[in-house]
Amino acid sequence: MSSSAPAIAVLGSTNMDLVAYVPAAPRRGETVTGREFRTVPGGKGTNQAIAAARAGGSVTMIGAVGEDEFGPRLRAALAGSGVDTAGLRTVPGPSGTAHIVVDDEGGNAIVVVPGANGTVTGLAPGDEERIAAAGALLLQLELPMAGVVAGARAARSRGVPTVLTPAPARELPGELLSHVDLLVPNEHEAAALTGHRDARPAAEALLERVPEVVITLGEAGCLYAARGARPLTVPARRVRAVDTTAAGDTFVGALAVARGEGRAMPEALAWAAAAAALSVQRPGASSSMPRREEIDAVFVKDLQEAR
Ligand code: AMP
Repeated sequence: MSSSAPAIAVLGSTNMDLVAYVPAAPRRGETVTGREFRTVPGGKGTNQAIAAARAGGSVTMIGAVGEDEFGPRLRAALAGSGVDTAGLRTVPGPSGTAHIVVDDEGGNAIVVVPGANGTVTGLAPGDEERIAAAGALLLQLELPMAGVVAGARAARSRGVPTVLTPAPARELPGELLSHVDLLVPNEHEAAALTGHRDARPAAEALLERVPEVVITLGEAGCLYAARGARPLTVPARRVRAVDTTAAGDTFVGALAVARGEGRAMPEALAWAAAAAALSVQRPGASSSMPRREEIDAVFVKDLQEAR
């Protein structure tokens, strides 16, 4: 990665997704035969880190994996996408796992066992320096809240802007919100946080708590709102989606890179939407995330067509 690549730190989860494909999910007491099984590196933290690295960021991952057979594979998956894993500690016990059953109708049922992620209740030696060296800190809610708050606090004290994806949806402590610069919920998370199902009133309510909000709206694109400015809607690209897993994480990773390069918000959002649209056209989570050249190619084509 070139030295001008935006430096991004991610504090978040690392899971091995254990995915079984079945005609129909088993009911309690029932055993069904699956047709396929896959192990896929995942977790929202790891997904955002890989998305940002592929989009051209110089990314460092802070979190934990277990002392089991998944730990080295998870670390290798991050490193293979160019993510620095010096801040990914190895702790006794199992890595985080997500047990996913996907049925023939595309529905899924998921059990997440946090494992090593559950040990990240604060920062380890070196983490604060990793955050301080970054141009942005990306946070999600798959780690213990105390760990997320510790990261946000360190970023604020070092003047590093924070981007929080409030997923999975849960109550947000006031201290965490006081350290967040940009909140990126999807429409369901925005509704859970505010009680408003419509994005505009939800964004208005969220602006009372954080200075900038992007509410992602799936194939409807996203709504950006900032204090003292008119809200802006950015459409999604019209594509044939085959798998929208991790579209939001791809969007956030690419957005952080574009902002780190100093692009204005409207352009950064359009570039992130181009990245997310590429990811939904391919199956998988991190495996579907586009590289910078692909995002640029789509983005330039869009600009030319808009002329
Ligand atoms: P979501 O997390 O589903 O709200 O999606 C995050 C972002 O991914 C959206 O703001 C879109 O830019 C993009 N995206 C999601 N679903 C689609 C889709 N079906 N077609 C094109 N882009 C999508």
